[in-house]
Amino acid sequence: MSGLPEQLAENVVQLALRRGFFNPTAEIYRGSAGFYDLGPLGALMKANLVNYWLETFVRQETSFDVYLIDGSLILPFEALKASGHVDKFSDPKAECSRCGRVHRLDQLIEEGLGVKVEGKSIEELQEIVRINDVRCPNCGGELTGFKEHHLMFKLAVGGGEETAFLRPETAQNIFLNFKRIAYAMRAKLPFAVAQVGRSFRNEISPRQSIIRLREFSQMEIELFFSPNRDYSIRDFDDVGDTIIKILTREEQRHGGEAIEIRAKDAVEEGIVPNRFLAYYLAKEVRFFQSLGIPPENMRFRHLLPEETPHYSGGNFDLEVKFSFGWKEIVGNAYRRDYDLTVHSKHSGEDLSIDDNGVKILPHVVEPSFGVERILYAILEHSYLEGMRDWPVLKLPRIVSPMKAAVLPLLDRENLTSKAWEIYTALRKGRRQLYVLFDNRGSIGRRYARADEAGVNLCITIDYQTLQDNTVTVRDRDTAEQVRARVEDLEELIFNDMYRGLEV
Ligand code: AMP
Repeated sequence: MSGLPEQLAENVVQLALRRGFFNPTAEIYRGSAGFYDLGPLGALMKANLVNYWLETFVRQETSFDVYLIDGSLILPFEALKASGHVDKFSDPKAECSRCGRVHRLDQLIEEGLGVKVEGKSIEELQEIVRINDVRCPNCGGELTGFKEHHLMFKLAVGGGEETAFLRPETAQNIFLNFKRIAYAMRAKLPFAVAQVGRSFRNEISPRQSIIRLREFSQMEIELFFSPNRDYSIRDFDDVGDTIIKILTREEQRHGGEAIEIRAKDAVEEGIVPNRFLAYYLAKEVRFFQSLGIPPENMRFRHLLPEETPHYSGGNFDLEVKFSFGWKEIVGNAYRRDYDLTVHSKHSGEDLSIDDNGVKILPHVVEPSFGVERILYAILEHSYLEGMRDWPVLKLPRIVSPMKAAVLPLLDRENLTSKAWEIYTALRKGRRQLYVLFDNRGSIGRRYARADEAGVNLCITIDYQTLQDNTVTVRDRDTAEQVRARVEDLEELIFNDMYRGLEV
């Protein structure tokens, strides 16, 4: 499914609300823009996604060591002053003089005029508005109050004598802890540090449900390496053969299409600045393909010079095609030694480390994954209508909230007690399978409910079960049913979770 229909976003949001994937925070008070809670199914799906990411990018990584940390959400003023966030982390905004609505100015111009304006000053944007008579999309009123809007949430710590901020990205904890991690782990370059956690950005007029939030979760890695050495990466021989699609700067200027190239060749040809970055781009394509995003709906956009921070050696946003257009879900950046340099300078702490007898400040490649956008991308790509009389959520089996539903065919004592016995054995079993028990309503209605919640398998307990200890196992995607022995169920459901992951 490449061309995602427009109705899709609305259907996904409705399903999310109905079935408990996500909903606005404080909904009973009409919510607060940019804040969403994950409901019972959303929270389980997120936990599974994070676990699969940790498995792929941390626990199973053998090309170099990856250390996981869990840092504080609140960072002191000095740290974010040094990183540049206090002075430079803002978006331009303007206000409608008639209805008072506040708009993010660059987006308003880009959407209204179809031109890219990243990197332009507030004065330049104001001039574009004046020349093109850009107006409030809400009421047609004139725009006023042009200014930069700072994106960090400021906090008063203690009695207010100390200023701090909620972190705008998880990355900074990693740089701040860099030297301690290197020593504690006796780490040798290249090595990486990963973190999963919340980030906060006081976005102007956030929209599109969980796509743009003021509080969201990131899964980030900072990979440290010496720029003076030519590394071979153990798994690159294999992973590097992956075809990736890159929307080059050249193609963006011509309004052209993304080029297709092997990750290895993208480095050889100088399109991607180094092997580590190419390695991650290739791994990301494989990761998302295994999560049901087809390659034609993924591309890496090489950010234009005016969108790229001055210190960066190249940024490649992984964009996915949503029903409303292409949108970044992972930011990939070659940050060079920028962060370690500024923190060395401002803290007075020498953050250089030994690399084969030479003291260096390592360079950094950073993939930064946004959890909620990924959850939403998966939901859009899994939602199917027209297959049955009800919507089916064909979730990737590894991240689906519930792996199986245990269903007594009829609500009769002998069937129900057998079903309960099977259910508890699965829940408490070695594989720790999260399965649900459902004996409410007709079996057809229960299949429909399970399909809509993305439950991988339905296990039905019928009269034959009482005779021979076998059950029917119904597959969500095909609705095919097979007979299986109760003693095989745990392994069957467990193995089924890993189906389709070999990309
Ligand atoms: P960035 O540091 O801006 O490149 O962000 C890295 C990733 O975090 C993005 O690719 C998004 O997936 C996610 N992200 C950034 N800002 C937001 C936001 N306001 N709401 C939800 N996710 C976000």
